[in-house]
Amino acid sequence: MLKSQAASFNQQLNLSLPDGIELHLKREDLLHPVISGNKFRKLKYNLLAAHEQGHTIILTFGGAYSNHIAAVAAAGHEYGFQTIGIIRGEELASGYTNNKTLVTAAAQGMHLHFISRSDYRQKQDIDFLEQLQQQFGSFYLIPEGGTNSQAVLGCTEILTPQDKQHFDFICCAVGTGGTIAGLIESSNPNQEVLGFPALKGDFLVSEVQQWTTKKNWKLISDYHFGGYAKVSDELLQFIAQFERQTQVSIEPIYTGKLLFGLQDLINKNYFPANSRILAIHTGGLQGKQSLM
Ligand SMILES: *Cc1c(COP(=O)(O)O)cnc(C)c1O
Repeated sequence: MLKSQAASFNQQLNLSLPDGIELHLKREDLLHPVISGNKFRKLKYNLLAAHEQGHTIILTFGGAYSNHIAAVAAAGHEYGFQTIGIIRGEELASGYTNNKTLVTAAAQGMHLHFISRSDYRQKQDIDFLEQLQQQFGSFYLIPEGGTNSQAVLGCTEILTPQDKQHFDFICCAVGTGGTIAGLIESSNPNQEVLGFPALKGDFLVSEVQQWTTKKNWKLISDYHFGGYAKVSDELLQFIAQFERQTQVSIEPIYTGKLLFGLQDLINKNYFPANSRILAIHTGGLQGKQSLM
């Protein structure tokens, strides 16, 4: 069903790194122009399940700049599902013409339904979901950020057999934890999977533990820059420099924080000499203009 438009590959980054350290970037951002990176992996088996269960409507949740909303809208457009996006912030209903994510989602046929932040907090409540069923009819539900067991399964397909042989460390940005869970599940026990949360809070450890019983992973919580979508001049400068040196675009919400953190840990000799590190470029470039 969901077809990538290009294959992902590993690109070695020729940054000047100490002690024989090798850093490769897995270009998942190239899989699809909008359904990019991990959102592609997370949707694949969900779309199959929705199709097999005979659903024609997919409903999901997200914020105004959500890569997940953008991906679901594009996937619905491409594969013939009606899509409904429940968007946090009722104030947006009266005008979102300068929000590229929402404008593009609407242009792809997504019905945007704006709700207050307090209603949005009920996004997992049975009663609230039943209300939505009454309003919109029967739908296939994908949770906020797209993380469920089908998503984790999709993310087990990111690493290739060669990646499992070659790399000592696998590193990725963490939002809801689905992507890292799939990486952990598919990793070899001698590999260590490091997650760099894009948001503040200790709850993410238990979120990840929902999906895996393996122990070869760790969250590194020092690089969220104050919380979700918070940035600093130092981060933006790092991103600009990284892009100049590598010719690879990254964004400030997820991949910028991941690579900033990795560079900092390398500088602080966190990694043993000759470590082979694979960082996952999870995409997410669709909302970039609005963020920098
Ligand atoms: C959504 C997203 C993430 C976070 O993925 P989770 O599975 O929610 O942890 C990371 N990077 C990018 C670019 C994203 O869009």
